[in-house]
Amino acid sequence: MSYDLFQPEHDVLRQTVREFIENELAPHADEWEEAGEVPREVFLRMGELDYLGMRYPEEYGGGDDVLAEAVLHEEMVHCRSGGVAADIGAHVAIAMPHILHYGTDEQKKKYLVPGLKGEWIGALGITEPDAGSDVASIKTRAVRDGDDWIINGAKTFITNGARCDFMVLAVKTDPDKGYGGISMFVVDTDTPGFEVSRKLDKLGWKASSTGELAFTDMRVPSDALLGEVNRGFYQIMGGFAWERLTMALGSVSGAEQAMNKSMEYAKQRQAFGQPISKFQVIAHYFADMATEIEAGRALTYHALKLYVDGGNPIKEVSMAKLYCGRMACRVIDTCLQIYGGYGYMEEYDIARAYRDIRLVPIGGGTDEVMKEIIVRMIGIG
Ligand SMILES: Cc1cc2nc3c(=O)[nH]c(=O)nc-3n(C[C@H](O)[C@H](O)[C@H](O)COP(=O)(O)OP(=O)(O)OC[C@H]3O[C@@H](n4cnc5c(N)ncnc54)[C@H](O)[C@@H]3O)c2cc1C
Repeated sequence: MSYDLFQPEHDVLRQTVREFIENELAPHADEWEEAGEVPREVFLRMGELDYLGMRYPEEYGGGDDVLAEAVLHEEMVHCRSGGVAADIGAHVAIAMPHILHYGTDEQKKKYLVPGLKGEWIGALGITEPDAGSDVASIKTRAVRDGDDWIINGAKTFITNGARCDFMVLAVKTDPDKGYGGISMFVVDTDTPGFEVSRKLDKLGWKASSTGELAFTDMRVPSDALLGEVNRGFYQIMGGFAWERLTMALGSVSGAEQAMNKSMEYAKQRQAFGQPISKFQVIAHYFADMATEIEAGRALTYHALKLYVDGGNPIKEVSMAKLYCGRMACRVIDTCLQIYGGYGYMEEYDIARAYRDIRLVPIGGGTDEVMKEIIVRMIGIG
């Protein structure tokens, strides 16, 4: 199916990026999953290859091409670890966009220039132990003290949180105002009072370093404020569009990759004297999966086109994330079934994919939250 979206140069880029991922990332996936961390050298290497700044302005070292970054998020599924893709994604598509959209020129020079080179790693800290979906009820507090701000509070589930160099942080600057009292800051993690309380163990995304963080009398200068005081909620919602789109892109390509691998398996695995792909029920699984993947791709590319054209397609992005996340879970579950007992074994990538994909209906806004947004956008809520 043609989508009139990517240009020939994106096809060339896709090939080059895939070769890099297959040759330099995939062979190390098991080791990094075991270690629970993606080495810094990976960020540096991807920075060297200009893969971290594809959508960022040239003046900060980027390539100014949103579609090129979309290609990267699609191709990252070939690295054989959702955790590796998550850490790169959190840096490139979740943390740094806040600085791109709301940062001053000084903040962009300070964080984007080393960030795009992979010298500094970023994270986005919104979720707290008692506030996830309900962003307006976060409790981390920033209080003015002369020209500085003093921050106290905690964050949890933060991707790259246990090892980042800077964090884009959501805090309450006016606790009486609910969502109208949130502001964003960008803080250096070597600031006294910033502490990694715990590195979290997870169902999947094993290579990703997910952190729980505590801030105790963390003093930051006034130029750590990112955007306007008390406009943070709107900045957060704005940032979700790209984060959710990248999750939809990764879900579609992840589902497709799992389907393709299980098709190879089904053609060679024998049962009752024939390849299992010859059983009509198995072949029909593939027909269903191929159809769902194509539907997910159409929805996602439609949202991507609207986004690239400068729109704010909240409804379409929410639909793409909702549909593709669940679709990929269904597809990967079916693929695991096709592998039979081998699908349950760690030596086949499908076991890891099954664990990793389950995050999509939770992270970046749950399915239920996506439905709440869609309800409002279609005029029923
Ligand atoms: C591996 C991982 C990485 C993450 N990375 C980051 C990160 O980098 N930065 C960051 O800030 N956060 C991160 N998160 C947090 C993630 O965004 C939250 O987990 C998510 O937003 C849900 O919040 P919660 O976990 O507090 O669940 P809750 O908000 O407590 O929700 C619990 C359940 O209630 C449902 N629910 C809540 N409100 C409603 C409602 N109004 N209507 C219907 N149902 C509702 C939810 O959908 C869910 O099913 C990460 C999470 C994980 C697991």
